[in-house]
Amino acid sequence: MKKQLFILAVLSMLSIIILSSGCGHQPDYLPENSDSSGDLSVFEPKQRGETTEKSETTETRETTEKSAEFTEPARLMPTEPPVKQEDFRFMTAGHYKPEYHERYIKYSEANPRLSHLDVVTYVNIGLDFPFYSEEIKKQVEDPHSYLVLSNKYIYLPESFVPEGYAKTDGRVLSLRGEAQKQFDKMRSDAEKDGISINIISGYRSYAIQREVYNNYKRNDPAGADTYSARPGHSEHQTGLSADINTASSTAGFENSKEYTWLNENAHNYGFILRYPKGKEWITGYIFEPWHWRYIGVETAGKLKESDITLDEYHAIYLHKSH
Ligand SMILES: [Zn+2]
Repeated sequence: MKKQLFILAVLSMLSIIILSSGCGHQPDYLPENSDSSGDLSVFEPKQRGETTEKSETTETRETTEKSAEFTEPARLMPTEPPVKQEDFRFMTAGHYKPEYHERYIKYSEANPRLSHLDVVTYVNIGLDFPFYSEEIKKQVEDPHSYLVLSNKYIYLPESFVPEGYAKTDGRVLSLRGEAQKQFDKMRSDAEKDGISINIISGYRSYAIQREVYNNYKRNDPAGADTYSARPGHSEHQTGLSADINTASSTAGFENSKEYTWLNENAHNYGFILRYPKGKEWITGYIFEPWHWRYIGVETAGKLKESDITLDEYHAIYLHKSH
């Protein structure tokens, strides 16, 4: 019995020695500056430190992102979606033209608030270049079409004379074929409503437009381009445009009952207000309440409904890739 007690006592002592020597090895894992007291609390700063370091980093990043988002929007630009993603979005537009791809990217970067669809529309028009830019100016493909577009980027051939006119016809009070018929119908219906509308300028030859433009340019070098077309770029050369009752911005035609009537009814006869208010930056012309363009009843209705210019209509629906 005594012997057994002795063995037990020896085993107990041995276990105490083993346990305490185990504790004695733990300081190897402690930080260099920690004491070797065996107090577990010395691990806490290290553990906390690791966690804290991570969470501080995360928090810092989040805070930076948040503050950039709300107080410094300009700094977001470098983190905009990568170009590849932008590319894809342009390509999904129905009126995307592969040959304008680089122009879409450039225009979008210069106008980050525009939607991708608008970017494609405006670049298709040519608005990423100044009006009359030689780099992108082109001749109309079908000057005989009732939907023909002549604007600050697209011009009619100097030799173009619409059907029904002779080369010598310079400045007349009439329109071409179908356009004149529809105008007559409109005038007679307007008359029934007590409204008097008359063409004061219809078809204009290239040569006459050159005279008209040069006169304006001489007297008003800075402003002429905002209300007078350069030769070849005038809608009047198509024989499809009419200046009604006046052609002066000081006449106050936009406040007349004739203008109100036209605004409500002209599309039913195939005419549209070609240079509306608010679209000056697209058309390149000041608001011209007197200038009405024939494009056919169906398309005029569409444009009236969607409130877009003929320039936008071409860019969206009549685009052609080369
Ligand atoms: Zn006009």
